[in-house]
Amino acid sequence: MNSIATKTLTAAKTNLLGLDPANMREYFVELGEPAYRGTQMVKWLHQQRIIDFQQMTNFSQSLRARLADIATVWIPKVISRQLSQDGTCKWLLQLNAGNCIETVYIPEKDRGTLCVSSQVGCALNCSFCATGAQGFNRDLSVAEIIAQVWIAKQEFKVTNVVLMGMGEPLLNFANVVDALNLMLDDNAYGLSKYRVTLSTSGIVPAMKQLAKVSEVALAVSLHAPNDELRNELVPINKKYPLKELMNVCRDYFVDSKRKITMEYVMLAGVNDTQQHAQQLVRLLQGVPAKVNLIPFNPYQFARYQCSTPEAIAAFQSILAAGGLTTIVRRPRGDDIAAACGQLAGDFQDRTKRRQRNMATWSEEQA
Ligand code: SAH
Ligand code: SF4
Repeated sequence: MNSIATKTLTAAKTNLLGLDPANMREYFVELGEPAYRGTQMVKWLHQQRIIDFQQMTNFSQSLRARLADIATVWIPKVISRQLSQDGTCKWLLQLNAGNCIETVYIPEKDRGTLCVSSQVGCALNCSFCATGAQGFNRDLSVAEIIAQVWIAKQEFKVTNVVLMGMGEPLLNFANVVDALNLMLDDNAYGLSKYRVTLSTSGIVPAMKQLAKVSEVALAVSLHAPNDELRNELVPINKKYPLKELMNVCRDYFVDSKRKITMEYVMLAGVNDTQQHAQQLVRLLQGVPAKVNLIPFNPYQFARYQCSTPEAIAAFQSILAAGGLTTIVRRPRGDDIAAACGQLAGDFQDRTKRRQRNMATWSEEQA
């Protein structure tokens, strides 16, 4: 395999923003520098937020000049920034030509949560999700993932990160793990492993892998208590059915105090009856889990409606009676389409799914 440093001498400049702490140290070692220079670079970029090599005063003039020749620090351009009435902020970021993604910051009394995207669109096609309906273009690079934190930190205090923006993070495994390493590293963002949450639709083999390499918190997009309904709502369930998914969840954390957050979107008349709630209690027996009920957020062409507040309350009380800690997520930033499942970005769909969805929608309206 080519070393990182040789690659940079022969190819385009390396974007240093995309190197996690271990790779950054290796990069400097390959330049003939001590490994701690890599740690210093991580601090400059992510902690001090200095991206101009000339201002990196603990590097010699010659190292700064050399870096300018072979490396760069590239940050996506902010195309638009919208502030919601409730203080939620949404950025539209320009990646390469034609590809834009969205990132959302949600301020709360005791925390500031950043919702980060991991792909341009999503290749999965959950039937209630705006991102899914938009189709898929490509994975984000490490730099493109971590830049979202970099940009948000310019304005806000980020205490929590959730990988709940556009995309299925576990289908972009290596890049997501490197970005997680930067989020947790004390020389970069220094976030607690309890305050960084990866949300997945349930890519079972990748979940097993993740448990081995990262200690971040885990959320699973469950949304249905049986395979028949889940196949319809979260089609990846056909590949990784509930039995397999629950097995991996049962053993996921070594620390018996840690729980997985089960996300459950509330769809009127679809998955919100008392029978569904009872089934859910049975399904989660013996699984270290808490439940997060998410009122469905509408978007253009959506084919569902949100459950009534009464149905949500009834559902919640059945779960509570079954011994499950359950909270109802309050929609945030819905006036700027920044709530869960509303992120769509702006990109060319390579799956033709968007076209098909539009066609189905026009037929339904006719
Ligand atoms: N692909 C990952 C992470 C991104 S989706 C996953 O599916 O887990 C983040 C969360 O928002 C998921 O729980 C997802 O199911 C939920 N979501 C998607 N569309 C939604 C909508 N229209 N309303 C409410 N929540 C939605
Ligand atoms: Fe993809 Fe998650 Fe949306 Fe499903 S819910 S389409 S996995 S982003």
